[in-house]
Amino acid sequence: MRERLDAIEERIASACARAGRRREEVTLIAVSKIFPAAALEEAYALGLREFGESYVQEFEVKKPQLQGMPEARFHLIGHLQSNKSRKAAELFQTIQTVDSAKLARRLNDHGFPLDIMIEVKLSDEEAKHGADPSELPAIVEAVRSCPQLTLRGLMTIPPWSEDAETARPYFVQLRELAAPLQLPALSMGMSNDFEVAIEEGATHIRVGTALFGSRRKP
Ligand SMILES: *Cc1c(COP(=O)(O)O)cnc(C)c1O
Repeated sequence: MRERLDAIEERIASACARAGRRREEVTLIAVSKIFPAAALEEAYALGLREFGESYVQEFEVKKPQLQGMPEARFHLIGHLQSNKSRKAAELFQTIQTVDSAKLARRLNDHGFPLDIMIEVKLSDEEAKHGADPSELPAIVEAVRSCPQLTLRGLMTIPPWSEDAETARPYFVQLRELAAPLQLPALSMGMSNDFEVAIEEGATHIRVGTALFGSRRKP
């Protein structure tokens, strides 16, 4: 894992250099879904502190098994059904997949302080969740009016493609949506396209495969 992390850090460094950005502007989120507790502990030992998980139920089982990770922060990056919102509010520090005002209010009502990102759907793929850009101002206002919630920014998942350049227009679009709403955080970019995301302003990249290796299907 150390070699994989070194390779990722080199890729981040060259993307930052190309974009004239500082390394500290980009948070590497280790996407540990499907991987066992031992894999997260190994990543933690290498200095990683931010973890991304996609499935509330899987993480509910895994979290109590995590030993010696007092500074770890956990981001939910998978779709959140409202009937799992209480569990999610208990388990995670950041919910990156808020896509409605109703879900925001429900999370707020559970009474746990949470960092929030709004997931935006920028393609018309059937399977994707996320808010339509036209709904953003209303959701932003709802999150900002919730005392337990701190709105950090926007998150998106472009359609998967072998070619990272295909994602660039989506990353540009997310940045342009965030600017007028004064949202500093942009969660975008995965193992195969995070350099492009950094060039377009990503503040959080979500990297799974490049760090942990390939996943079996959930
Ligand atoms: C699984 C996942 C990732 C990580 O994808 P990799 O290609 O393995 O880096 C990032 N973001 C989301 C939302 C995911 O579900």
